[in-house]
Amino acid sequence: MLFLWVGRVYCIQIKNYFRTYMKTEYRKTFKYLSRRLERLTSKHLYAIFIYNMKQKITFETNILQSLNLESICWKKVYVLASKVTIDNYSRQFHFKITHNILYLNKSLYRMGLSITQFCPFCKTWKKTVVHLFHDCLVVKSLWNNLSNFLLPNLVLPPLTPESAILVFFYIDSKLDNQINLMFKIAIYNSRIKETCSLELIKDKLKAIKRLEDNITFLDEKRKLINQSKWAIILSELT
Ligand SMILES: [Zn+2]
Repeated sequence: MLFLWVGRVYCIQIKNYFRTYMKTEYRKTFKYLSRRLERLTSKHLYAIFIYNMKQKITFETNILQSLNLESICWKKVYVLASKVTIDNYSRQFHFKITHNILYLNKSLYRMGLSITQFCPFCKTWKKTVVHLFHDCLVVKSLWNNLSNFLLPNLVLPPLTPESAILVFFYIDSKLDNQINLMFKIAIYNSRIKETCSLELIKDKLKAIKRLEDNITFLDEKRKLINQSKWAIILSELT
């Protein structure tokens, strides 16, 4: 009797939730349950419990505010790394930056996990993602050197505050985006040594190309896609 009463109360809530908030597919799934009390299960009560706890994510708003952007297509940003590379480490790295969880000196210093909050390359400014991958003069100089090295076959776009966090999501070139991602990984992994060189970045590109060649070796379709991606700078990487 008690269960039936509790169930009836929840049924009313289910109707209200699904009628007002839930998406069409959820509404279709749970529609019949609101009519039949005996079909009410702990799974659906748990769904209501979780739904009540759901909060709007804040990192997207924080990133947009820091870049002075009103809105962007986040879906395009999130899937970008998986479209441009099959290297899992690169995909994870992109995920961390776009989800605001790549902790650098400024954040680590506040947590007591770093003895300095300054950039390891220029040692002047606080080390944030935008500084490390755009503002830093040492890093900018390296990007210019890399751009000159790849000329005239490939003309890389200049670094921007947006590219520091979101890669070049506003252009379609897979290779431009992948090179920017590899460049950032090389910079990030050199932070302990406090120095990075063009040779190291070139080695990183060669290593990733070799890795992707090996992974796609037995799959003709993926092999062709991979080869066409790297074709334009093949002479620079051999
Ligand atoms: Zn710097």
